[in-house]
Amino acid sequence: MKKAKLAITKEKFSRIIFSKYFRFCFILAGFICLMVLRQSSKTFGVSLGYIYLVLISLTGFWFGLKGGLISAIFAGAIFLLEVEMHPYWPARDLVLRGAAFRLSAYLLSGFILGYVSELQKKLSQEMEYSAYHDKLTGCVNYTWIVEFLEKEIARSRRFIKEFSIILIDIDHFKSINDTYGHLVGNDALAAFAKVIKDNLRNMDIVGRYGGEEFLIILPELGSNGALEVLERIRSKLSEARITSRHLKEGINISLQFSAGLASFPYNANNAGDLIKLADDLLYQAKQKGRDKVLVERRRCIRLKSTKGLKVEIFRLSDKEKLKIISIENISERGILLLFSQDFTEEEFLCRISLPGQDFTPEFTCNVAYKNKLENGVYRAGIYFVDIPTYTRGTLFHFVHQGES
Ligand code: GH3
Ligand code: MG
Ligand code: MG
Repeated sequence: MKKAKLAITKEKFSRIIFSKYFRFCFILAGFICLMVLRQSSKTFGVSLGYIYLVLISLTGFWFGLKGGLISAIFAGAIFLLEVEMHPYWPARDLVLRGAAFRLSAYLLSGFILGYVSELQKKLSQEMEYSAYHDKLTGCVNYTWIVEFLEKEIARSRRFIKEFSIILIDIDHFKSINDTYGHLVGNDALAAFAKVIKDNLRNMDIVGRYGGEEFLIILPELGSNGALEVLERIRSKLSEARITSRHLKEGINISLQFSAGLASFPYNANNAGDLIKLADDLLYQAKQKGRDKVLVERRRCIRLKSTKGLKVEIFRLSDKEKLKIISIENISERGILLLFSQDFTEEEFLCRISLPGQDFTPEFTCNVAYKNKLENGVYRAGIYFVDIPTYTRGTLFHFVHQGES
């Protein structure tokens, strides 16, 4: 506990120290202190003047070239003002003789430190960019897209949102390389990625998953919305004039793709399963002749361990309670139950009590299917019909937190 508190305090402290506001105040305070010190010193602190160099360098280092130069000009102006204000200052002549040197030193230190700091910032930005991006297509790379997928799962689970992923692969891409050469293939690949990127929303992301295979993540979009996005990409791709500087003028390349689409949480509730579903569908789309999009429709998030969950099923006619032997599994849409008795009704009243919840909502449910097992027990799949939105949300959490 103490360690955690210490870590938070440390984090807060470093956030303050590294904030731009703090740095600005620090430098300003430095200038003011130096000015006061020089004014109060009898010798007018000749050597103190060079401490301005430290402040200028620091400004350049923290605020870049512009900051460094502004700071140098500011220090130079103060210096000239000081000399002007103190005509009887004993060391005035000496200092004035070295004024040009001093002012150049100010400017040079502001320039050098500012330039070096900007260069270093640019280099580290470039390094960060290339660590996460694919140079040819400008898409994020495999590592980043998988990381993003994991984050999106955590976010969607927390906020009870759905999202879709699409695994997309160019059809017969090898033949483009074979016909026109690898360089033309590269340009075609970049053009394909651009068509995808141009037709996504800002919040969507596309990553290069493999050679000519891309993974698209569409936050807060179900399978129907994702299908619309794919349709848009398909139509724009057919209109696009894909060419290359390595091709003779007038030759355009036409590209088609196959894709697999799966959604969280209905099809799978972890990154590995979701990608596997989309990958299987992509494979099937290729098998079925390519230029196709296949969508996963199976809903498979069912929680098997149902600790703390209580379910009661009542007949609508006489409110008689049916005897439930056990709960096989549950999703936010329905429940699989084992009954000790047979029934003919297709509609019941369902009462659910979730762990940690005081109220027990009642709503109608339908029997999706029923079968008799060998031991005389009846297994029935029950669909929740008019389940209150709040209860569905709580169930969603219950199911997914239980699964994770
Ligand atoms: P399919 O319809 O089954 O997907 O056939 P395909 O030819 O697209 O797929 P296959 O896996 O047989 O070949 C993929 C080709 O993509 C082979 C590889 O040379 C090419 N490729 C992968 N990455 C790049 C790249 O960065 N640049 C170029 N020019 N080609 C690439
Ligand atoms: Mg391909
Ligand atoms: Mg491929």
